[in-house]
Amino acid sequence: MAIARGYAATDASKPLTPFTFERREPNDDDVVIDIKFAGICHSDIHTVRNEWKNAVYPIVPGHEIAGVVKAVGSKVTKFKVGDHVGVGCFVDSCVGCASRDLDNEHYMPGLVQTYNSVDVDGTATQGGYSDSIVVKEGYVLAIPGNLPLDASAPLLCAGITLYSPLKHWNAGPGKKVAIVGMGGLGHMGVKIGAAMGADITVLSQTLSKKEDGLKLGAKDYYATSDASTFEKLAGTFDLIICTVSAEIDWNAYLGLLKVNGSMVVVGAPENAIPVHAFALIPGRKSLSGSMIGSIKETQEMLDFCGKHDIVSEIETINIQDVNEAYERVLKSDVRYRFVIDIASLAA
Ligand code: NAP
Ligand code: ZN
Repeated sequence: MAIARGYAATDASKPLTPFTFERREPNDDDVVIDIKFAGICHSDIHTVRNEWKNAVYPIVPGHEIAGVVKAVGSKVTKFKVGDHVGVGCFVDSCVGCASRDLDNEHYMPGLVQTYNSVDVDGTATQGGYSDSIVVKEGYVLAIPGNLPLDASAPLLCAGITLYSPLKHWNAGPGKKVAIVGMGGLGHMGVKIGAAMGADITVLSQTLSKKEDGLKLGAKDYYATSDASTFEKLAGTFDLIICTVSAEIDWNAYLGLLKVNGSMVVVGAPENAIPVHAFALIPGRKSLSGSMIGSIKETQEMLDFCGKHDIVSEIETINIQDVNEAYERVLKSDVRYRFVIDIASLAA
C-alpha cells in the first residue's frame, strides 16, 4: 500500500492538521493519480464541522481534485500515464446494482463519496487535500488539454453542480435565470449559464461583487439586503438556482418566479427552512433540489467548459493556510474559489 500525505480533520471543533495514511492497493481497473490541486468547497466545511451530522473522523476533505495520471491498471483503457484528470464528489456507485444508471448514478443508493464514505476494500475514503488517490477508471474524468489544471479543479464540484440544473431546467436563449449567492458555486453558474445563452441575474447580499458578476457574464446584479429588490423583480425569473450555504427566506425568493417557474436549491444549510404553501400555489411554482451530476454529465460539462474556455476564478493557497481559508469562506471573503496547491505539502 502506498503512503499518502495530506491534511485531515480529527474532530468537529479542531483545525485541520497534517495527516499520513495508506491509499488502497490499485486493482487492474484503477487509475493512480498524483494530485496537483484541490478546490475548497463549502461542503468540505459543512462535513468536517459535522453540520450534516454524518462525519466519521479522521476526514481528509477535498472533492474538487485535479492531477496527473501516475499509473494505470492492466484493464484501464481510457487513461494513460501523464494524462490530466479530475475526480469529483464520488468514486463508486451502485455497488449492489446489476447495471449502472449512467444518468442518475449519483442519486442511487450505494454512492461512495470521495471522502467520508467506505471504499471498495472496506476502508474509509479520503479526499483530495493529499498528494495521491486511487480511483476506478469509470469515476475518473478527462480534463480538456486547453484548461489549466489549477482553475479546472473547482469544475469537478462547483461546475457540475450548476451545469446540471441549468441544463435540466433548460437554461438557454430567452430564459431569465437568477443565481442566488456569488460564491464558488454561484460564480460558476454565472459563467456556465451565460455560455448556455441564458439571461443571468445575480442576487447577492450586497453589490460589492457586482463588477465581477457582470464581467463573468451576468446581465444584472441586485443586492438582496435591499428590500426593494424583491418588489422590483417580482415575477421575473423562469429559474432561480440558490447556492446559499445559510438559511434564507425561500418564500421571498419564490415571489421572484414567473408562472410555472422553478426554484432549485443546491446550497445545503444546516437547518430546515419553512416554506409557505401560498409561496407555491399561485403561479404553479416548483421548489426542487439538485445534487452534483453523473460521471457522464460531469464529462459533458468539462468538454463544454473546454469548448467555451470556462474555468473557475481562483485564489491559490498553500495547504498550511487551509484553516484560514475556511474562515474566509465563512465570511464570503473569497473570489471565488480557494484552490490548494498540493506541492506545498512538501514545504
Ligand atoms: P460559498 O463559496 O461559501 O458560497 C456561498 C455564497 O452564499 C456566499 O458567497 C454568499 O454569496 C452567499 N451567502 C453566504 N451566507 C449567506 C447568508 N447568510 N445569507 C445570504 N447569502 C449568503 O459556498 P459554495 O462552495 O459555493 O457552496 C454553497 C453551498 O452549496 C454549500 O451549502 C455547499 O455545501 C452546497 N453544495 C451543494 C452541492 C450540491 O450538489 N447540491 C454541491 C456543492 C456544494 P454573496 O456574498 O454573493 O451573498
Ligand atoms: Zn463540493
